[in-house]
Amino acid sequence: MSLNLVQAWKQAREKLEAAGIAGPVIDARLLVEAAAGATRADIVTDPYRPLTPEQAATLGDYLARRARREPVSHILGRKGFWKIMLQVTPDVLTPRPDTETVVEYVLRDFPQTASWTVLDLGVGSGAILLSILAERPAAKGLGVDLSEEALAVARENAANLGLAGRTALLRGDWTFGLEGESFDLVVSNPPYIASHVIAELEPEVRDHEPRLALEGGADGLDHYRTLAPEILRVLKPGGRFAVEIGYDQKQPVEALFRAAGAEGVVTVRDLGDRDRVVAGVKKALETKA
Ligand code: GLN
Repeated sequence: MSLNLVQAWKQAREKLEAAGIAGPVIDARLLVEAAAGATRADIVTDPYRPLTPEQAATLGDYLARRARREPVSHILGRKGFWKIMLQVTPDVLTPRPDTETVVEYVLRDFPQTASWTVLDLGVGSGAILLSILAERPAAKGLGVDLSEEALAVARENAANLGLAGRTALLRGDWTFGLEGESFDLVVSNPPYIASHVIAELEPEVRDHEPRLALEGGADGLDHYRTLAPEILRVLKPGGRFAVEIGYDQKQPVEALFRAAGAEGVVTVRDLGDRDRVVAGVKKALETKA
């Protein structure tokens, strides 16, 4: 007897719960939808649709992987972020809802119509950069990453979203080699986890996400020390920046940007009310009266 959609969802939920997965209901639904080629609506409007034997076998495989703490995003190969869908692989940090705070914050200051430029340092999957470009059709962006594999993922995402024509992707070590370039906006979600904390992370993150995208040195702040002066250097006068931070890094990261000459430095909270983004401005040129 073959399982139908709603039975498959229930069984999947029970299996994930038994394996100790947090949030088994949503994970089970996402995996059933993917295995059965069903939409979210199908589970409600067509709950008795049977799974084919192949679909049931695929679901069994997905559930076994999830029970071994592989992230859903890696099993499905994609993750929704802001208003776009991104391909993801183990070579990029899976986009988190927290990071949408960066996107939401910067969009407020940048108009729809004007043509301006954005630089994303450590672009990864392209989550931040492509979300911004998708909403600002006259803007152009450059994404830099140390990882060639990550750039391949970002490139595919840019193409899938029809943004390849406005997205340049470059392998590089932060702003090294960008002498002579300047941008209206610089964004980044650098690695900021202190090295000794890595071992304590959830297995989904610790064992499956790229360490290159997570580890920020002994106190987690190494990359901000490099980035603060570099970001101020590549911004146009009057240009803005917004970088993601760990929930307890507001003070030191604000201080690093102030020391680098930034003005109007503020910290923005995420939807969970944790400090999440440090933003500011590069001093505008004096205008002569
Ligand atoms: N927020 C991520 C986590 O806690 C870390 C992201 C980062 O280091 N930039 O897993």
